[in-house]
Amino acid sequence: MSFVSFVEVFFSDWPESMKILLLLLLTALPLSAWGDKGHRIASALALKGLPPGPRAWFAGREGEVEDHASDPDRWRQDRKEGPRHFLDMEPYGGPDHLPRTLEEAHERLGGDYHRLGVVPWIIQDRWRDLVEAFRSGDPARVALATSILGHYIADSHVPLHTTLNHDGQATDQRGIHSRWETGLVERFLQPGDLEALPAEADPTFLTRPWDWLRASHALLPQLLEDDRSADRTTPAGDRGKLRTQAYWMMFWAKQGPGVKRQLQLSGKHLGDAVLNAWIAAGRPVPPAKAAP
Ligand SMILES: [Zn+2]
Repeated sequence: MSFVSFVEVFFSDWPESMKILLLLLLTALPLSAWGDKGHRIASALALKGLPPGPRAWFAGREGEVEDHASDPDRWRQDRKEGPRHFLDMEPYGGPDHLPRTLEEAHERLGGDYHRLGVVPWIIQDRWRDLVEAFRSGDPARVALATSILGHYIADSHVPLHTTLNHDGQATDQRGIHSRWETGLVERFLQPGDLEALPAEADPTFLTRPWDWLRASHALLPQLLEDDRSADRTTPAGDRGKLRTQAYWMMFWAKQGPGVKRQLQLSGKHLGDAVLNAWIAAGRPVPPAKAAP
């Protein structure tokens, strides 16, 4: 029985808002996604995939874009910030029934909808900030807006950011969140491992975050299964499971291609976002650098 259906069955005569509250009490907010290394890799890939027009805005600022790519994770002591990094799909009935607007989310789930995650709408807002940054003519502002937007785009490519079972708490796989998104990345990924994919123009760009989230969610069953199967070799110690090199090698062999693909797509989709923001801003040319 899934975690949500458990709540549905055993608390069936509770009002909807109480059931959601219960789900929230039984879960904790997810950890930060990708870690600094992953967010840096995604930002660097995005810039590499840009055509010359928007690319010119970032000349000499590549490091800046990477340096700020994890900033939103540092804002999470603000209670409003956490839900900006994910969207839990189960309370809406799964990936095919997601609301498209915040109004619809509110209508369907009531006042607590915000705590179940708002990442697609935050991506839309931060994308509009980037369009404004291009219009302002300030390359430093463009670089910062790109970092911030890129953070939320990369988070939406983490399968465990699309589910109430975000840390394996419903399937007895606690800690899987960081094992997948930082454990594997920190241990095995080299920055040069991933090839940048070229950014593409897309007039329907603002609808895309839902596609990314659905694709991420579809990776969950295999991800959970691969962790369980790698874990069969893991001895239990006094303080829980002691994951050995054998676990990590096995988990990487199974999930490494998925981790790489999701990071590569995070970079590609940030590149798409930048290209489309630049087009929406009227294809501006960056200001000439002042003579030294
Ligand atoms: Zn995050």
